[in-house]
Amino acid sequence: MLLCFCFLLGAQPALQVPEAAQPGPGFNPETATRAYLDTFKPSEKTRSDSYFEGGYWLILWDFLFASILSLLLLETHVSARMREWAERWTGNKPLAIWLYWAQYLLLTFVLGAPLSVYEGFFRERQYGLMNQTFAAWLVDQLKSLGLGLVLGGLLVMALFGIVRRLHRSWHIWAAGVAIVFLMIGALIGPVFIAPMFNKYTLLADPGIRDPILRIARQNGIPATNVYQVDASRQSNRISANVSGFLGTERITLNDNLLRRASPQAIMAVMGHEMGHYVLNHVYKMIAFMTILYAAFFALLRWGLDWSLTRWGARWRIRDVGDPAVLPLALLILGVLFFIATPIQNTLTRTQEYEADIFGINTSRQPDGFAEAALLLGEYRKLDPGKWEEIILFDHPSGHTRIFSAMRWKAENQCLSSAVDPCGER
Ligand SMILES: [Zn+2]
Repeated sequence: MLLCFCFLLGAQPALQVPEAAQPGPGFNPETATRAYLDTFKPSEKTRSDSYFEGGYWLILWDFLFASILSLLLLETHVSARMREWAERWTGNKPLAIWLYWAQYLLLTFVLGAPLSVYEGFFRERQYGLMNQTFAAWLVDQLKSLGLGLVLGGLLVMALFGIVRRLHRSWHIWAAGVAIVFLMIGALIGPVFIAPMFNKYTLLADPGIRDPILRIARQNGIPATNVYQVDASRQSNRISANVSGFLGTERITLNDNLLRRASPQAIMAVMGHEMGHYVLNHVYKMIAFMTILYAAFFALLRWGLDWSLTRWGARWRIRDVGDPAVLPLALLILGVLFFIATPIQNTLTRTQEYEADIFGINTSRQPDGFAEAALLLGEYRKLDPGKWEEIILFDHPSGHTRIFSAMRWKAENQCLSSAVDPCGER
């Protein structure tokens, strides 16, 4: 494996292995993990911890803001008035549902702007994670708004169509439609939507492309090309993915990974991404979300009926098929998703850990993997408490990731390219 990387080393950062993580008879995974974590300067650690811990509070503020806004739209009859205006223009037709949605989305976009500008732009810039000017960032937000108007509008029209026709079983069919939209987003989004925000080009350098395709073939991934994306347009964060289905499969590396990581770290990250693909994580996540959505839509139906019996007349909402009910529906779903945050985090984090183990074992680059975990530690707390990680982390912490790599290294040193006491394999 070393041969594949030799001619790359000149162009990219070389792998740095701390003294205590060097292979040898006294190798100890705990000591090696600590040595890696200690390469972070205290000031860098403080900044990363404060950025990530601030994110915990943002989950709460976002939830409270959305909930209060929904209640205000109902109590002040703004929601009912938006419905009246939409129906005056189009009659009580599906188009009125879209017109209601467009008003709702534009209004919440404007009212939520102070929070989203702070969260998405100023806070990112304050922590040195933002590479965009405000104008460029705003253009991206407007593109997302446009997608929300079109795709979100289609989803809302489909859901209300079901609610109006299937009075007794709408919650089951609505959950099904929501899952179909989720699948479309997960499977074709990276291929068709992501290029609206970034430029994707074929990775021409055979020194990087060929080892990646070799590992892809080893693992039965039908990709014939590797793409590069200009993620540095937005930030310095490293990332990669394997996406698409039915002939759109592709492997994508972002330019930050190519520029900032050693060849060993690139291979470790690619191994991780391939793990998601080989372990069918997208399909397993869809299966889980189907169960979650089925439960949530049943609770939504109960919550809507209960609330409308009490306050429907006061909020001037006709029934559950009235588009003016949308803020109430989103309020109920918001509460359910907020409560389920630790469950969703744990599910995602478990898949990420599985992909980690697959990636370390496939790439055989435990030190490259540790390097990547440290790069991710720039914006993810490296060494959290046990319960903090279980409840609030949607990816394993740097500590967990580096320890898995160092444990692999201790148990499989003869397989690692860093040392080869077993001779030619
Ligand atoms: Zn992952």
